[in-house]
Amino acid sequence: MRITRIFAHHVELPLREGSYHWSGGKSVSVFDSTLVGVETDCGLIGYGEVCPLGPFYLPAYAEGVRAGIKELGPHLIGLDPRELGVLNERMDAALKGHPYVKSGIDIACWDILGRTTGLPVCTLMGGRFGEKIRLYRAISQEAPEVMARKVAAYKTDGYTRFQLKVGGDPDLDIERIRAVRAMLESSDRLVADANTGWTQHEAIRVVRAVRDLDLYIEQPCLTYEECLAVRQATDHPFILDENIDSLGMFLRAKADLAMDAVNLKISKLGGLTRTRQIRDLCVSQGIAMTLEDSWGGDITTAAIAHLAHSTPEAYRFTSTDFNSYVTVCNADGAPQREEGYMQASDAAGLGIAPRFDVYGPRLVDIS
Ligand code: MG
Repeated sequence: MRITRIFAHHVELPLREGSYHWSGGKSVSVFDSTLVGVETDCGLIGYGEVCPLGPFYLPAYAEGVRAGIKELGPHLIGLDPRELGVLNERMDAALKGHPYVKSGIDIACWDILGRTTGLPVCTLMGGRFGEKIRLYRAISQEAPEVMARKVAAYKTDGYTRFQLKVGGDPDLDIERIRAVRAMLESSDRLVADANTGWTQHEAIRVVRAVRDLDLYIEQPCLTYEECLAVRQATDHPFILDENIDSLGMFLRAKADLAMDAVNLKISKLGGLTRTRQIRDLCVSQGIAMTLEDSWGGDITTAAIAHLAHSTPEAYRFTSTDFNSYVTVCNADGAPQREEGYMQASDAAGLGIAPRFDVYGPRLVDIS
């Protein structure tokens, strides 16, 4: 089997809540997501999706996905898409860095491997652990009482895990955390995710002010060293996200005891193959994971579900169902949330079929 064509379409994904706000006044109201298709000489096509959280979150942007595939695509024509190790080696040799560009291609090739073998991706990635995957809800940064109201509403949808977008004014963030924790049950799990937004002294003030609360702190500051200093000044369980953008950074943070859990985003790490490598190390090393992506629609949600469902439950800190945050369905067959949980599909591959009626014209076509 050989790759004969790689193509991409874009789709706009408006947010159900209107807009999504996080640290530093950043916000998005319509996501620009890219569908990546990998076509083979036997007529089989696999699909992936890449959706950066705007151009100002990670070093990634939507046009960059398409431009990168134009650069990378010609190097991959003729490869066997089922040989994921060879594919990733070739991608890394042809284009230095830019993991998010490679992510959609890698996911599409996993989809092909599944479709060819008749197996769901989660079976190929290690097997299905447990019946279902527990989800968290990200709560956009707003006034404390608005965030508390939203958490109450999402609790009625079955969510028991929440990730608060903080990283703004530290005094207001303290109020946000207190307002939300006050309305949760002790079994509910709360993460205060600053998304790099606090300076070191601000972060240390916040963690001291909420020391009495049951709470996780995620990526308080921009640099790894600042985060490590905050980690050493708090006894809250600690999660790193933005800084863990490679296997090397993961190993460094593990050696420094810099985190209790880690946030692995598929496109941040370059696709399912690279994410699985770190996922498996986390399981061996006792580090729980938030398994997700930067953003996305139905195809991203399906990829997350296969990654999460093939991870032992004790190490699944949480995942999220991005397709429920947006108003456009970009593929049939994706997991749908039920009472705060989702499941990976039993169908071959990712188990999805793109809804081409919602996509724009083909923007990339390499053959
Ligand atoms: Mg995070």
